[in-house]
Amino acid sequence: MSQETPSGKVYFVGAGPGAPDLITVRGARLLAQAHIVFHDALVHPDTLALATGAKKVSVGKRHGSPSVDQRFINRSLVEAARRHPIVVRLKGGDPSLFGRLQEEMDALQAARVPYEVVPGVTAATAAAAALGLSLTRRGTSRSVTFVTPRVGRDEAPADWATPAAAADTMAIYMGVGEAARVAATLIAGGVPPATPVAIVENASLESQRSVLTTLEALRKGIQLKPEGPALILAGRSVRALATEEAHRADPTPFRVLLP
Ligand code: SAH
Repeated sequence: MSQETPSGKVYFVGAGPGAPDLITVRGARLLAQAHIVFHDALVHPDTLALATGAKKVSVGKRHGSPSVDQRFINRSLVEAARRHPIVVRLKGGDPSLFGRLQEEMDALQAARVPYEVVPGVTAATAAAAALGLSLTRRGTSRSVTFVTPRVGRDEAPADWATPAAAADTMAIYMGVGEAARVAATLIAGGVPPATPVAIVENASLESQRSVLTTLEALRKGIQLKPEGPALILAGRSVRALATEEAHRADPTPFRVLLP
């Protein structure tokens, strides 16, 4: 029996979209109890500060900078659970969306380390809240897709556009960097070029910015220089917003670029 018995448990905690008070009460409680926290790059400092007694290890993935090897993260979680009772793996937004949760759970499962997932507010719902937009709408918008066009280095490309196009509303993660191509793919897949699009950057933070435009304008290439994470929302719900916006008299926090 050479293998040590793990003593601890790993909690995958959703940190929420950015604002430190958008973490769940359960997530905040676990941070306060944690002995060690492995966190993503974009987690707010005030959120990390909730982990008063924990060693904090950044294993951040940030667009444009080299990311920590996934196998290293997996191994670190297993090793930490052998040494500490409460290990928190803090992930941006909700851990189960585009956050490599499955790989990390598989590694823990293989090492017989117990784990639990604590959900979080995902970027799409934070962006909708930022715009005062309902992602579904009775009678007109019954489906929402969470998609990403991003293909990792070790992944085979897959069709993200067909399921996106089939939904009334689409939330496109990690797509702003290639927005023109994303729009072209959706239009080629049959989505009307006039479909309203909202792009929200830094949803829930003070630095939040947004732009309302159309798929066609996005395809032609509008000036987008997001400094923080940004999400594309497109479809029927955004159409409702665009229509209302066009009739609103007071100035708004976002630019209306609709024709
Ligand atoms: N698990 C996260 C998503 C990770 S993928 C979640 O549930 O939100 C990272 C992508 O999420 C970014 O490229 C961006 O598209 C989106 N994103 C994350 N935080 C955001 C924010 N505050 N505002 C807008 N988009 C955000």
